[in-house]
Amino acid sequence: MHVLVLGSGQLARMMSLAGAPLNLDISAFDVNTQNVVHPLTQAVLGHGLEQAIAGADVITAEFEHIPHDVLAVCERSGKFLPSTDAIKAGGDRRLEKALLDNAGVRNAKYAVITNRAEFDAAIDDVGIPMVLKTALGGYDGKGQWRLKTPQDSDAIWADMAQALAASEHQAIVAEEFVPFDREVSLVGARGKDGEIAVYPLAENVHVNGVLSLSTAIDAPELQEQAKQMFTAVAESLNYVGVLALEFFDVQGTLLVNEIAPRVHNSGHWTQQGAETCQFENHLRAVCGLPLGSTKLVRETAMINILGEDTLPEALLAMEGCHIHWYGKDKRPGRKMGHINVTADYSGELQRKLCQLAAVLDPKAFPAVQAVAQQIKH
Ligand code: ATP
Ligand code: MG
Repeated sequence: MHVLVLGSGQLARMMSLAGAPLNLDISAFDVNTQNVVHPLTQAVLGHGLEQAIAGADVITAEFEHIPHDVLAVCERSGKFLPSTDAIKAGGDRRLEKALLDNAGVRNAKYAVITNRAEFDAAIDDVGIPMVLKTALGGYDGKGQWRLKTPQDSDAIWADMAQALAASEHQAIVAEEFVPFDREVSLVGARGKDGEIAVYPLAENVHVNGVLSLSTAIDAPELQEQAKQMFTAVAESLNYVGVLALEFFDVQGTLLVNEIAPRVHNSGHWTQQGAETCQFENHLRAVCGLPLGSTKLVRETAMINILGEDTLPEALLAMEGCHIHWYGKDKRPGRKMGHINVTADYSGELQRKLCQLAAVLDPKAFPAVQAVAQQIKH
């Protein structure tokens, strides 16, 4: 079977690696150049969307910020999964909030802002402190503001007015600031027959809005809440494929922060830690194959490699340490790869994280350092 992935980044690359044993052949469509490329080598295989669609049995996506005209053409081919509605909801916070509300899923109180009067009304209704996010185009904490005191509202408005002026389709979603204890996410798959399989929750540490460390956790009560919300969202979209839900954990109650209609960075640990990884399960789902087991096979944590293109060789000698590079050119802060570290039990995983903290540059891997400090105390 031939699968075309919209987007040619690391997620398409990892789908390609996971699909090979099942004889699933993956090519990637770069929406900027309109080239069809090999997801591993980036070698150009063809040009133009029509040709790419004609050669594909199934079309899916690795990101949500896809031009709507591209989505429309893919949808018309009848080969596109999960669906344009799911992708659009992942790429527009207004649609995402409406989806969560309609599915009856808890999320932070919010208001949509397009002008100063609506901003002032939101300050009254939603309250301060408040997190403001552009409806379109946000990722890795970009396009966000924090309003902590009323005195800052003029300065923040000036910034937001600029973002609004840049596109007539843009809006700002103002959200109550959620005083969470931690952030967790649930990655799972829904098959064409409606079967759902979810992975264990991952606990996520973000630094400056970017995911730094994800650890699979065993939290039965939270897992049950998360699975219910996952099911509600996936069923309301008649979703097929892997879907991720990010949550705030507020004293044992989960609120959805956002959804990602695709394989997700917080699910990369499944490559070493689960019976079937998220990339394989996404392909299984969209190709109409039975889903693979999502069972945890080892305690696992994933560390993002941000802005670095080399690591100490000693890491490869460490038992349970697996490096995944994405083959990208180095840029400050860019997601260049990740490290999966596995252990037989959780104490051993903690020991290995401390070991890693000792060899990794503290500036490049702040979350590992912080976790190692906590473990030592
Ligand atoms: P991603 O890379 O996950 O797509 P993003 O840019 O889309 O990120 P969010 O996940 O919405 O943005 O926000 C980034 C981070 O900011 C969150 O992981 C969380 O730490 C913090 N944050 C977002 N919304 C809130 C909120 N309402 N209250 C408190 N913190 C928040
Ligand atoms: Mg997020």
